[in-house]
Amino acid sequence: MKHEDKANQKHNIELALLSVINTQKIDLAYQGQYQLPTNQLVGLEALCRIPPGPWGGISPEQFIPVAEEIGLITRIERIVFKQIALDLPRLLQSHPHIRIGINLSIRHVSSPDFSSFIHGWLDALSESDISRLDFEITETYFQLIAPAVIESLQKLRQRGVRVVMDDFGSGQSSLSRLHTLPFDVIKLDKQFTQQIDHSMVSAIVKAIVALTKEFEIALIAEGVETAVQAQSLQEVGCRLVQGYFFSKPQPIAHWL
Ligand code: C2E
Ligand code: MG
Ligand code: MG
Repeated sequence: MKHEDKANQKHNIELALLSVINTQKIDLAYQGQYQLPTNQLVGLEALCRIPPGPWGGISPEQFIPVAEEIGLITRIERIVFKQIALDLPRLLQSHPHIRIGINLSIRHVSSPDFSSFIHGWLDALSESDISRLDFEITETYFQLIAPAVIESLQKLRQRGVRVVMDDFGSGQSSLSRLHTLPFDVIKLDKQFTQQIDHSMVSAIVKAIVALTKEFEIALIAEGVETAVQAQSLQEVGCRLVQGYFFSKPQPIAHWL
């Protein structure tokens, strides 16, 4: 893309983000997480979408980094949380045993009033609903985590929320720091799933399965697009999966 087009696109994204903040409206799509081999639904991940407008279609892969860069991510995620508080009881009424995944930017988690916001938000929920929540944080950013943020995540875990290391293996996985990071679940980046037919990739996934078993960490593979990939993941012992093969992200109505 030319420099000029890039600047235009960024400006366009900024307009869209500001419109979300002005209207306090964001759309959420929920994507299923499934247990193999029964294909039972075990969770839904909330993925945010900017409502249609003059800016055209913009994907989270485009607007989340811009929101982080220009300092709007906290305001955007507060709108996501507001919507999830409304959706949560409805989803759990239809599927009482599932978990609900919410993506959280480390910038938001690191912001000074995150604790007061999130504990206030959790206070409005029932204990049993709190214990169904998964907070997903991208692994690359996990490495930048400050001690105070580790403590704040520990507090959330004590309240019953699970902390998920998202996109594991995609960034600069610091295996040497893994034991110092507070998390309950590893979400294996889609690149592993999509190259699982390579014997070395399959061996790496097998090793991660063994590691997570030993430490009682849950493991979910992302980006499962084919039956063959699902089968290979099952064969190496990865039983939790998410991806287009099972379900695309869908509006809440699809799940009720
Ligand atoms: P993520 O949390 O890793 O979410 C999974 C992404 O992979 C989603 O993209 C999903 O639509 C896509 N995906 C699911 N199944 C497949 C598949 O089988 N194949 C392929 N190729 N892709 C699949 P999406 O919705 O575009 O979101 C992209 C990223 O944006 C998310 O990655 C997450 O990091 C971020 N994001 C989305 N919503 C939020 C949010 O509310 N807050 C924050 N901080 N980040 C968000
Ligand atoms: Mg995620
Ligand atoms: Mg991911």
